[in-house]
Amino acid sequence: MGSASHSGVAPRHIRLPSAISQLIALLLIAPGHCYDFLYFVQQWPGSLCNTRESCCYPTSGKPGAEFSIHGLWPSNVDGSYPSFCNPGEPFEIVKISDLQEQMASEWPSLACPSSNGHKFWEHEWLKHGTCSDISDQHHYFQATLNFKRKANLLGALRDAGIVPDGGFYSLSNISETIRRGLGHYVGIVCNEDEAGNTQLYQVYVCLDNKAADFIDCPAVPFNRCEIARVQFPPF
Ligand code: 5GP
Ligand code: 5GP
Repeated sequence: MGSASHSGVAPRHIRLPSAISQLIALLLIAPGHCYDFLYFVQQWPGSLCNTRESCCYPTSGKPGAEFSIHGLWPSNVDGSYPSFCNPGEPFEIVKISDLQEQMASEWPSLACPSSNGHKFWEHEWLKHGTCSDISDQHHYFQATLNFKRKANLLGALRDAGIVPDGGFYSLSNISETIRRGLGHYVGIVCNEDEAGNTQLYQVYVCLDNKAADFIDCPAVPFNRCEIARVQFPPF
């Protein structure tokens, strides 16, 4: 693994206030790892596209109405994180040619201009993947796709009657539903639609630093969901 520069800013994160979270944090600091845990981050495309910045559909067309992958990010409990650890390991699309179809559907880029996603995947690999202990880029992308399959966020929400219909839902109900479905506490981040409504934007699921199992998030990002009920917009 390359040398890790720490560029995160601690005040963005809120520590879970319990002795248990401190114990988890201690257990997570295993030798050989330059980070405490990983965030597996998913985004709700409806909440990306209805903002003032808007979005652009991939060149292959509009993705399905599903959470899509943002990334898999080595992170520390204090809010710092390593980034761009190994410029000597460039992204090579040929190394993940067998995953491309699944990547296009589950890890689409919604940034403008429209693209095939390769630039997004390259950015995620160089910024975060090169800092992970996952042995190579094929494993990194494959593992991330596998976590997506394991964490069926939309299914858990739907079973609880929380659906992307533009309605407003209790934030604590959303958090608790995901916690029950996954078996672990997660972080939830909101953004604002064009009209200024606060809405469900990203879900941060946490993994132990071996990228083996989901864990209760030992720290969560500043959530920006400052009201009790948040919009779940359609896509
Ligand atoms: P934002 O400011 O939108 O929360 O984050 C911008 C970018 O900073 C993210 O897309 C991600 O690349 C990086 N980032 C923010 N927080 C964390 C973190 O806790 N861990 C890691 N590894 N990256 C983060
Ligand atoms: P991060 O926030 O992970 O550091 O970087 C995200 C980068 O990927 C930004 O430069 C953003 O424009 C680009 N990007 C491309 N497609 C997407 C997408 O679908 N979602 C997000 N969040 N960023 C994307």
